[in-house]
Amino acid sequence: MVEFEEVLSLLRGGEDTLRKGTEVKRATVGNKVYLRGLIELSNKCVKNCLYCGIRCENTGVPRYELTDEEVLIAARYAWESGYGSVAIQAGEQSSARFTDRIARILDKIKELSQGELGVTLSLGEQSRETLAKWRAAGADRYLMRIESSNRKLYESIHPNDGRHSFDRRLEALYDLKDLKYQVGTGVMIGLPNQTLEDLANDIVFFQETDIDMCGMGPYIEHHGTPLYETAQNTKMLSLEERFRLTVQMVATLRCVMPDVNIAATTALQAIRPDGRETALAVGANVLMPNITPSTEISNYKLYDNKPIREGKMGGGDAELFASLRSHGFEIGLHEQGNSMHYKKRE
Ligand code: SAH
Ligand code: SF4
Repeated sequence: MVEFEEVLSLLRGGEDTLRKGTEVKRATVGNKVYLRGLIELSNKCVKNCLYCGIRCENTGVPRYELTDEEVLIAARYAWESGYGSVAIQAGEQSSARFTDRIARILDKIKELSQGELGVTLSLGEQSRETLAKWRAAGADRYLMRIESSNRKLYESIHPNDGRHSFDRRLEALYDLKDLKYQVGTGVMIGLPNQTLEDLANDIVFFQETDIDMCGMGPYIEHHGTPLYETAQNTKMLSLEERFRLTVQMVATLRCVMPDVNIAATTALQAIRPDGRETALAVGANVLMPNITPSTEISNYKLYDNKPIREGKMGGGDAELFASLRSHGFEIGLHEQGNSMHYKKRE
């Protein structure tokens, strides 16, 4: 366990930490980048997170839900393109219909790929029974960011309406571990009133929770949300500073938890076109190209300026693969790229 003070000094360590992250990465997870084709299943959401563009109270967004067929076409595309995994993400929904639908989709993805595609889910807080059902149907991993491990800060970015509970989110994370998912969490970086100490504590939290995977991204304002107003009236880091701090967090986490999977997140790309490559260089080893069908891709807007470069219809694979290779990365084609940490833990 790397203690708080040491984490903080890594976060303050600038270039030194970036070099260490690069070094640790080379010595542990190596040079490979694993791909998860991101399928944004639906932007319907029962939650009302103050920062998010698809929160339920945002009436300006046309709501969609992909058909099973569209999801399976995207999954097949991922499989045939050599992506080792897909990640299915959506706003939070909970109903028996939704639970059954996801189970059915999992079943079909495993079938069409002859069990080769790994599947990550990111569908918010769900009952233990639902999570168990999806695990049994073939889900390998689950991503659920804690957003901030500081309870007060968490509460400041979620409405106090009984539907947004820090404890409930923690409970769901522990359920996922118990059910033997590879468990991923993460935080947003550069939130209003977030301190460097908060971020150091987040990394302590990741260690205590013994996570297998992590996705961290800069907070980016969405103009139609309440947190946008807060951000206007708060002394905020600039987007460029949030970018640099996220990269610093990635390198620090790689030093502290050498064998976890770390995603180079899309929000980095929203600030700098090659932002994900920067994160990959200093510690990240997972990338999630967006393969949502182009008809709906623009409606899944969590924040302003979200990039929509890749995708089946966008034909962005060749460009992306070339960029990764030109940065010196090897692409883990046809490999699931499971978390080394999970393998050791199990
Ligand atoms: N509904 C699920 C998954 C989709 S949201 C869930 O909330 O877990 C996925 C992630 O998008 C969230 O965890 C959050 O960290 C991120 N996100 C949402 N709004 C954002 C914003 N304005 N800036 C940066 N990231 C954002
Ligand atoms: Fe819904 Fe997730 Fe956005 Fe919160 S962050 S409003 S749960 S999609």
